[in-house]
Amino acid sequence: MRRAGCYVEVFEQDRVIGGRIATLRQGSHSFDHGAQYVTARSSAFGSYLDEMTGTGYAAHWVPRTNAGGENGVQMLPWIVGTPGMASLVRPLAEGLRIHTGRKAHTISRGDSKTGTAWNIWFDDQTSAGPFNAVAIAVPAPQARLLLGKLEDLAAPLSRVRMMPCWAMMAHFDTAVLPNQDVFSDMSEVIRWIARNNNKPGRSQRGESIVVHASPGFSREAEDVEPDVIAGELWDEVSRALSLSGVQPDHKSAFLWRYGLVDQSLGESFIFSSVHRVGVAGDWCLGRLAEHAYESGQGLGRAIVQSF
Ligand SMILES: Cc1cc2nc3c(=O)[nH]c(=O)nc-3n(C[C@H](O)[C@H](O)[C@H](O)COP(=O)(O)OP(=O)(O)OC[C@H]3O[C@@H](n4cnc5c(N)ncnc54)[C@H](O)[C@@H]3O)c2cc1C
Repeated sequence: MRRAGCYVEVFEQDRVIGGRIATLRQGSHSFDHGAQYVTARSSAFGSYLDEMTGTGYAAHWVPRTNAGGENGVQMLPWIVGTPGMASLVRPLAEGLRIHTGRKAHTISRGDSKTGTAWNIWFDDQTSAGPFNAVAIAVPAPQARLLLGKLEDLAAPLSRVRMMPCWAMMAHFDTAVLPNQDVFSDMSEVIRWIARNNNKPGRSQRGESIVVHASPGFSREAEDVEPDVIAGELWDEVSRALSLSGVQPDHKSAFLWRYGLVDQSLGESFIFSSVHRVGVAGDWCLGRLAEHAYESGQGLGRAIVQSF
């Protein structure tokens, strides 16, 4: 939209942009606790990733896996942000006015004469606007809340299902994992274990590990305290990898409440040219970062064309 000459402002509830493509700093250690790597099937996302690798924001990651040697499970190249996954989205923010720590609560018509401009209201009762169009790029359950009475836009979202995912982060002074960087589907509880510091551009001091729990475990444990989850997941990792007696010097857990798409919408995005309000996200087309990119691009184009 910016390239098409629109003036764009972004309101992000978190302290940083990037959403589930994230890097969390804990003391002197950092962890990619959301998306682990991205892949490109489409030429549009492929070109974006080429640009990112060409400019040093991203690099190829070829981990040793449990699926048979280097690159064993890679059908497509795995790309990671450098020095953390969050770097992958930074260039998208260039030239935009970004407001962080701004949780949108609702949108309401800002211009009663034309009926098309919108104000955005935030949790702290303040507002911004008027804007000629609104693009809501958040997980489907959060988008439904924001759409409020715009039933024609909100109704299809009830088809979408998203699942929680607990992430656990652990750091060790020395290397503890067996001779692999990625372990997938280790048990009913553990979906993924990655040696985070094996990714390119990461600090090689000690060992940083990211664990993702299975959807079943994450759903059942949605309301459990993060400290308890960190302990339970580490015990499970120790069992799965025979690491009894090994304890991390740091461990913590984070819940992605709307982490993974279980049932997607099956359309690239939703847009009403009457209201000039649209909704986009990974859940429109699938469950990957590439789907989010494609959905956002589609909605951006639709908004530009509507003027
Ligand atoms: C544990 C995990 C592992 C994953 N692994 C991979 C992987 O390996 N490869 C891959 O391609 N994909 C992976 N994914 C999926 C990938 O992260 C997502 O597909 C992608 O990041 C979705 O982008 P998005 O822009 O649609 O949504 P999000 O990344 O969720 O961005 C939405 C943003 O909106 C903000 N927001 C929400 N509500 C409001 C509000 N009311 N007001 C203001 N801001 C709001 C959020 O804070 C967030 O920043 C993984 C996801 C998780 C959780």
